[in-house]
Amino acid sequence: MSENETTPTPRASRHPTQNEPLLFERSAPGKRGVQLPPLDVPAADLSQLGGAVRAEIADFPELSELEIVRHYTRLSTWNYGVDTGIYPLGSCTMKYNARINERVAAMEGLGDGHPLQPAELSQGALRLMRLLSEYLLEITGMEAITLQPAAGAHGEMTGILLARALLASRGNARRAILIPDSAHGTNPATAAIAGYEVRNLRSNAEGTVDVADLDRVMTEDVAALMLTNPNTLGVFEEDIHKIAELVHARGGLLYMDGANMNALVGRARPGDFGVDVMHLNLHKTFSTPHGGGGPGSGPVAVKKELEPFLPVPVIVPGVGGALALDYDRPQSIGRVKAFYGNFGMFVRALAYIMANGCDGLKQTTEDAVLNANYVRHHLRDVYDLPYPTPSMHECVFSDKRQTAQGVRTGDIAKRLIDYGFHPYTVSFPLIVHGAMMIEPTESAPREELDEFIAAMRAIAREVETDPELVRSAPHSTRVGRMDEVRAARQPILRWKPAGR
Ligand SMILES: *Cc1c(COP(=O)(O)O)cnc(C)c1O
Repeated sequence: MSENETTPTPRASRHPTQNEPLLFERSAPGKRGVQLPPLDVPAADLSQLGGAVRAEIADFPELSELEIVRHYTRLSTWNYGVDTGIYPLGSCTMKYNARINERVAAMEGLGDGHPLQPAELSQGALRLMRLLSEYLLEITGMEAITLQPAAGAHGEMTGILLARALLASRGNARRAILIPDSAHGTNPATAAIAGYEVRNLRSNAEGTVDVADLDRVMTEDVAALMLTNPNTLGVFEEDIHKIAELVHARGGLLYMDGANMNALVGRARPGDFGVDVMHLNLHKTFSTPHGGGGPGSGPVAVKKELEPFLPVPVIVPGVGGALALDYDRPQSIGRVKAFYGNFGMFVRALAYIMANGCDGLKQTTEDAVLNANYVRHHLRDVYDLPYPTPSMHECVFSDKRQTAQGVRTGDIAKRLIDYGFHPYTVSFPLIVHGAMMIEPTESAPREELDEFIAAMRAIAREVETDPELVRSAPHSTRVGRMDEVRAARQPILRWKPAGR
């Protein structure tokens, strides 16, 4: 570490302490949010409505308008989102949700459309979905697409069902799916739910697929290899052509988990490197809101031979230049989602694509990769880098150097909260013990990256000088370390008056 490095101090907290009364406890009889003028009409006799009217609502809090405004405003400050600051969760691509997307999605003709409108009255929506499909096919190098799935994992399931349908039509759906040990947990879950046996594929010292191991395990009963590229170490699978050839030569299909497309858009196309079927996460790569911010969307793109199996309905040319919905697809796997999928997300993703344009999308990819490498470069002397292979859009460190002081990846993540940042992804991918996975995305301004790096470096110094400070973090939040198991098993979802 250099001499003249500045040491940022943890930001002062705006949060009230654990014991400070919340909204409902501030309730007092007679407090009102509104003051009505005296009654100047005869009072209605509500008793005629029988049991439908309560004399009073038991335990209903009584507060002024200002207190309510402060309550909700304060709650909003306890949250953290992409609009608050950098959200470097690796693999999640938490990028800026551009406001232009929201403006366009709220336009009357798009926002007020109803999925039960007949195709004749939904031509604009159908054209929009068709245009988005064409752009996504151009970006991925694939040949046909469905926009129906509502999430990445949902897209995975759709894609694997498509693969199974194709293989079954050839007389043998096969038994197993190969999944690298670095894969996202949804991959094996998808394969298992689709009825396949999951077989593990080892990674080599570079963190990529071991082609010799693939050669050994890619047998005639393997339906598909599910691969993420770049993989969850942020490493591009350089042998992808060889891998695709090997899988195809043995009669299998190559599925690509496209959650990491933010590293490829405008630079490389999965369709060109041998992928047969893949999903996209519009809520990651294409900037539609993610997590609590909105529903997801996981379109699945395929090569021609899988097209007959796509979910219905499919948008097709109709009479007189209009578009129509085709439900008559005998080989289709059927519907995977009501109507056409999450239409509002299609509008946002299309707005993102069109606002950026070809050159903008390419720039986005380059900036995402640059930012990840900037972070990697400025942290590699203080945190262990388990794989020296070049990083794409995210970088993965481990807590190896900090464990000597009894500090683990989860502790460092909690301490980051004290510095005002959302933590990175903790303990994933599983092949890295104590993983710290950082994906800044292209949205992070240079100044914020520097602040994040400074915080990470300050924590590394704290681990040396005062490890207990890090082990007991966070110190600035309303609640500290949650009992995550109890929160999941016995969630408290409703306020109850104190003492009841
Ligand atoms: C996010 C992610 C998924 C799952 O996507 P969801 O939309 O969360 O269901 C799958 N694989 C990878 C690599 C991911 O990062």
